[in-house]
Amino acid sequence: MAKRPLLGSESDPKLLLAEIARQNKVIEALMNRLERNAAGDYRTEFDELQTAVALKGEVRRRTAALETALRDNELITRKLRESEFKLLGVVNQPLVGISTSEEGRFTFANKKMADMFGYDVSEVIGRDVLTLVAECDRPMVAEHTRQRMSGEVPMADYTFRGLRKDGVEIDIELHGSVHNVGVRPVAVSIMLDISKRRQAERRAEGLHALLREQSLRDALTGLYNRRYLDVALEEECNRAQRDGHAFSVVMCDLDHFKLVNDRYGHQAGDDVLAIIAAVIDKRCGSAAQAFRYGGEEFLALLPGQTGAAAAGWANALRKELQTQIVNPGRDAFRITASFGVASFPEHGLCGNDLIGLADQALYQAKRGGRNQVRIADLSNGRASALQEPPLPMTAQGRR
Ligand code: GH3
Ligand code: MG
Ligand code: MG
Repeated sequence: MAKRPLLGSESDPKLLLAEIARQNKVIEALMNRLERNAAGDYRTEFDELQTAVALKGEVRRRTAALETALRDNELITRKLRESEFKLLGVVNQPLVGISTSEEGRFTFANKKMADMFGYDVSEVIGRDVLTLVAECDRPMVAEHTRQRMSGEVPMADYTFRGLRKDGVEIDIELHGSVHNVGVRPVAVSIMLDISKRRQAERRAEGLHALLREQSLRDALTGLYNRRYLDVALEEECNRAQRDGHAFSVVMCDLDHFKLVNDRYGHQAGDDVLAIIAAVIDKRCGSAAQAFRYGGEEFLALLPGQTGAAAAGWANALRKELQTQIVNPGRDAFRITASFGVASFPEHGLCGNDLIGLADQALYQAKRGGRNQVRIADLSNGRASALQEPPLPMTAQGRR
């Protein structure tokens, strides 16, 4: 009898069972024929007996194969269950959100992912992926998704503002890839809610900026300090050189300030310094920067201003200061200040030179009688006055 290959169906218990049932039917039919031909031709009977025996052997072999296949099948089923269990463990862990999407809609979401956005899993499936993205980030996420699905990039790593069901925005970190299931690309995404981390980062950034700002400021007056002046001057020199602009520095020293301390005490002196600083800062506005250069010395950095313009500016400040009544209510008095001006490129090309020259001009203003403005003058080594007759002594205008 011609042997038909058993395998091909060997690993499929159902097919094997059907095959064996069919063989059993054939044996039964042969036995019936044998009984009917009992009194007939012995040769035929012998042939058929042989066929029946061969078939019985075949059935035995197939039964053995079936048993093996059943055992294999059981093993495979057990392994499948194990790996399915492991996969479920990975997918349903509570650490990261996992989702798949096809043609812009979610086709799978684990519980963690749905929880992150405040939905049930069933509400996520079928949803347009962009509905979970805050409006500001939708174009960005759409572009990332397009690049991933078209194969332009193999993987995606980005953060975006997510949108929860309750309307609250959250920070999401996404790691994604694409898998082709048949001919369809399926986007697989792993998502982490990093809102708390981002909040802490923003707080730290804010604190860092505040500390940096504080480190550049003088504690008493709130003006920029001398340390920052070095940086600002260098930047301004570079900018002016690059753009061909002028800029000026105005040094200001309060007149006879020692008297203020002597008469009214150090605390009152501090209060006066803070008041004067506020006046200078206000006059600087956004067009200039004010610094506390030393004890009762201030400096203004005026971008774009020539020496003459800066001297005019300083003179206006001088006038404003002399009308300022400080310490009102108790022992009110007025105070004056002297000024020295130097400009880039007119008087010098580097910060140190400009400060030195402005200081010299200031010295000339003091020598000239105080409460006046002097501009650095390179021609005769002396500062020239922006002349207006000096006013009476400072800190003495008691009322
Ligand atoms: P001049 O017109 O020549 O500038 O006279 P002056 O008295 O202002 O100058 P001088 O340099 O002799 O004295 C400056 C004084 O400023 C000395 C110090 O008592 C006072 N001073 C410096 N820093 C501070 C401060 O932070 N607080 C107070 N209250 N006083 C200060
Ligand atoms: Mg001084
Ligand atoms: Mg002084």
